[in-house]
Amino acid sequence: MPATEFVIALIPGDGIGEEVTRAAVAVLNLLERSIGGFRLGYDELYMGAQCYRETGVDMSEETLESVRAADAILLGAIGLPSIRFPDGTEISPHLKIREELGLYCGVRPAKAYPNSPRRLSDSRAGDIDFVIIRESSEGLFYTQGRGEVIDDYEAREILRITRPTCERLFDRSFEIARKRKKMGGKGKVTCVDKANVFKAYAFFRKIFDERALHFPDIIADHNYVDAQALDLIRRPWDFDVLVSENMFADILSDLAGGLVGGMGMAPCAEIGDKHALFQPAHGSAPDIAGQDKANPLATILSAAMMLDWLGTCHQNEQMSSAARLIDDAVWKAFADSRLYPVEFGGQHGTAATTDIIIETIEELQTS
Ligand code: ATP
Repeated sequence: MPATEFVIALIPGDGIGEEVTRAAVAVLNLLERSIGGFRLGYDELYMGAQCYRETGVDMSEETLESVRAADAILLGAIGLPSIRFPDGTEISPHLKIREELGLYCGVRPAKAYPNSPRRLSDSRAGDIDFVIIRESSEGLFYTQGRGEVIDDYEAREILRITRPTCERLFDRSFEIARKRKKMGGKGKVTCVDKANVFKAYAFFRKIFDERALHFPDIIADHNYVDAQALDLIRRPWDFDVLVSENMFADILSDLAGGLVGGMGMAPCAEIGDKHALFQPAHGSAPDIAGQDKANPLATILSAAMMLDWLGTCHQNEQMSSAARLIDDAVWKAFADSRLYPVEFGGQHGTAATTDIIIETIEELQTS
């Protein structure tokens, strides 16, 4: 029997986080009612920069326990440039969650929806549909917050690559390519590294090649990160799944978000072996917070990834259908030229964009 009841740790966070999570929950509520076969209960949790200012802690131990106990986590955005720890570093409890829950695999799709803004004039820009897999627990972020500056003369950080993390990461990347292939994807994984210069990346690539042998139905490809940056501008439509070290993938995924419109179109999943967190790839955007200007689509599409992940883990087909319906609705709303978010210079703010997606889902369900 597939599981049907799930607890979602809902973390609105800071800035536009509250607005965009509200939008995603409205879409999830509709799907829960209209599709059936699953129930989501929300455990709303307070953490982040505002929480730090008010309570003196960015995330309490009790809150972390609630996060750990949930079936999935849906997060808006965390951090405000105006509120920092005394040493000047940003408030980022979600990084602690990532570490505590072992969320090593960041999944960041970049997909061109029809009539949505394109940064490239080539007609093939409409075919952009790839996913960046970001190793999220080590790489050049390994010593984050623990790097050292010695005698005001030199600074050091450590880049760490480990075999167990790489093996799990590559296996997931090939599995994602396999799943995408069933839905018309190219069936290709590109390992993005700098194996020609650094031993650590040569090791990364060696493990990639070893794991590729277990997935003979999927093409295993390589690219150096500098060439990859060029190719994401020159021929992004040729890629399917790109897997890379933490820092490289962090940079490339912002570039990818830009290619398909902007950060408001960039969903993200952070997946571990037992837990997963879903959040838009953008930050708290304090410049537009509270003005109904935020594009909620990245969060709504992240919620779709959450449904798909829960549906796959718990063999709940209705949840997987609900996930597809969200993506189909975003596609149709753009294709019908009904949706023009403020982020792209249009007239649809957060609430109007959410309403249009809800109406489009209802239309798709009755057609
Ligand atoms: P972080 O480092 O926390 O990811 P950031 O400093 O990169 O954050 P963001 O908060 O993502 O910055 O904002 C970058 C720019 O993108 C801002 O101009 C912001 O208004 C815009 N932006 C971010 N998210 C959205 C959104 N959902 N809709 C519209 N504009 C957005």
